[in-house]
Amino acid sequence: MLQQTQVKTVIPYFQRWMRTLPTVQAFARAPLPKILKLWEGLGYYHRVRHAQSAARQIVRRHAGRFPSAFDDVLALPGVGPYTAGAICSIAFNQPAPILDRNGIRVLSRLFGIAGNPRRKSVNTKLWNLARALVCAPGVEPSQLNQALMEMGALICLPRRPKCALCPVRRHCFARQQNRVAAFPAPARRSPPRQRRFIALIVRRRGRFLLRRRPMGVVNAGLWEFPNIEIPLQTRNPAAKAAPFSLAPGGPFFRLRHTITRHRILLEAFRAGFSADSPPPGAWKTIAQAGQLPFTSAHRKVFDAVCRSDS
Ligand code: SF4
Repeated sequence: MLQQTQVKTVIPYFQRWMRTLPTVQAFARAPLPKILKLWEGLGYYHRVRHAQSAARQIVRRHAGRFPSAFDDVLALPGVGPYTAGAICSIAFNQPAPILDRNGIRVLSRLFGIAGNPRRKSVNTKLWNLARALVCAPGVEPSQLNQALMEMGALICLPRRPKCALCPVRRHCFARQQNRVAAFPAPARRSPPRQRRFIALIVRRRGRFLLRRRPMGVVNAGLWEFPNIEIPLQTRNPAAKAAPFSLAPGGPFFRLRHTITRHRILLEAFRAGFSADSPPPGAWKTIAQAGQLPFTSAHRKVFDAVCRSDS
């Protein structure tokens, strides 16, 4: 839950989760819609699906106890070298290196590691350094790794680091060279991509037409209103909406949201369809839809539909 998400956002999710699924066995058994509903709003839904596969593996192979051997932790679905290192060093005090963005910044500056940290050669150099530090004689791995992360978060900031407060300032290559801003080398980012979608709010006999996103795509298993991507400059969305027919008057709700580098405009229209070509999907009442896990954007559309109904 805490990956890419702030602690204050996670706390109510975590509390609700622990009330509903208090053991690893309960999590392993839970149906997918239930866990998606508990996760709804946290985004990055592949995490919770991986976490459930990991819970099943823990029940099956480790008798319900979280493993402590690095290779067993790394073998859990969704766990990469960073997470395995964080768990083994912080929870079990094992000499496993970890490197997050904060740690990369500290080590790059401290040791003067030039080059883009995403490049394999640079990344390997940084991991080797992190490993050498955590394996050094007399080092407490749990404290060292947490100290590196905290230093990056509180002292060695991306802009205007607090070098005067830094406990390793006398050893810092970047500071000695007066080139702090040059480390780490800035990563080249892909430019944002603008996209536009229309969502179709189709209602028949008190039920709404909804669809579940298929497995293997972003937000797999979550629910949404039928929607269609249209070219950015489209003047007449109705012409792109077949087999739906848009109600006159334009969209009743507009939303801009971002998924990774995609900047998305979502416009929700009330719509109908011709009786001889019913579109695929499931028909749900408002009460039933309220129980389903929606994507974040379509949850906002659903809330707007509920408000306009009340
Ligand atoms: S001296 Fe400054 S740049 Fe160097 S590690 Fe400390 S905070 Fe970072």
